[in-house]
Amino acid sequence: MDASLPLIVVLCLWVLFLGEPSAWLAVERGRSAWNGLIAGMFFGALAVIAIGLAPLGATRRFHQCPECLEGVRKLATKCSQCGADLIEEVPA
Ligand SMILES: [Zn+2]
Repeated sequence: MDASLPLIVVLCLWVLFLGEPSAWLAVERGRSAWNGLIAGMFFGALAVIAIGLAPLGATRRFHQCPECLEGVRKLATKCSQCGADLIEEVPA
């Protein structure tokens, strides 16, 4: 009996079920997949939860300009496309 085979299977499942989802989440949040994968492997479900709850990455820090419907940064006070004043959109 090769005792190392179940260990390899466990490691593969570990990476698949813990590393892969957190890597995917990390990419979704604009972070490195490797960071998510490694964090997932070491911290398991905790990393998945931590990355899942982390603020959204740069790709989602945009909203739609009410004037021209182009994507503009949420913190912008003027639309970079049409120059519309977006100051009302930013909470005081
Ligand atoms: Zn605009």
